[in-house]
Amino acid sequence: MPIRKFQRVAEKLSSFPHLELREPAPISESDLLRVHTADYLQAIKTGEPRALAESQKFPWSPELFNSVCLTSGALLSASQTALQEGVAAALVSGFHHSHADHGEGFCTFNGLIVSAEKLKAENQIQNIAILDLDLHYGNGTASLAASRPWIHALSIYGNDYHQNKPYIDVKIRHHEDGANHHSIAIPKKSGANEFFPLLEQGFQWLLSRPKIDLLLFQAGADPYFEDPYSPLLLTMEDLQERDRRVFEFAKVQNIPIAWVLAGGYTREIEKVVQVHLNTFHAAQSVFIPSTH
Ligand SMILES: [Zn+2]
Repeated sequence: MPIRKFQRVAEKLSSFPHLELREPAPISESDLLRVHTADYLQAIKTGEPRALAESQKFPWSPELFNSVCLTSGALLSASQTALQEGVAAALVSGFHHSHADHGEGFCTFNGLIVSAEKLKAENQIQNIAILDLDLHYGNGTASLAASRPWIHALSIYGNDYHQNKPYIDVKIRHHEDGANHHSIAIPKKSGANEFFPLLEQGFQWLLSRPKIDLLLFQAGADPYFEDPYSPLLLTMEDLQERDRRVFEFAKVQNIPIAWVLAGGYTREIEKVVQVHLNTFHAAQSVFIPSTH
């Protein structure tokens, strides 16, 4: 995961009109403990036991805990801003492979579920939806949503993910859906003609849920056709149109929306940055049409 992309996106956004950049506060331990086990939290804090502290599959360091507390804090902050102002983003990943008692796939704490739990505890929301359009299946989010019927999690993915292994052909492995977590597999070599009807199916599933108070959008850059993990044929223009349709859905349905940048591994990092910046252009074209 090229984490310097976040800094590059922030630099580019500093000259965007109609946009305010804010520093987040770290999430508190009590907020994390609504979702993650005390043993896992301690492992990330102290580095011991090392196997658990590195279950997300990168080396533990003393800076990790503060870093991932800021990640979840940023997602919470964007969620709260969206509830007040309609739309906001966090320049972080959602960490959708993270489970209650361990990490997976570079994901430590699941900021999507941690934020949802905090907002629910404070009575700011009743129902929340997570629309995961990262290339990879959001297995951690699904596992955490399963015991929380007020969270409605949808993953539209072109690459399955299980126990730290990606499965690039979604026909080889498919997991179980549940009452409140649903998935739609994108067959390999799909382009816009195949993808957009599946996205529409996803919107219909979201509309079949009880009234949603907030939509969290995992805006992955890794479905992009040049991404080394992507078996899809989606171009930058297709991904910007994807994002535009998501924001249009949120606006028409009058649902506040907060998004995160999620995955993106294309070798030329500026292309990953461009896909993420295009999400901001898409949001502005829907919410501030006079600028586009
Ligand atoms: Zn991914």
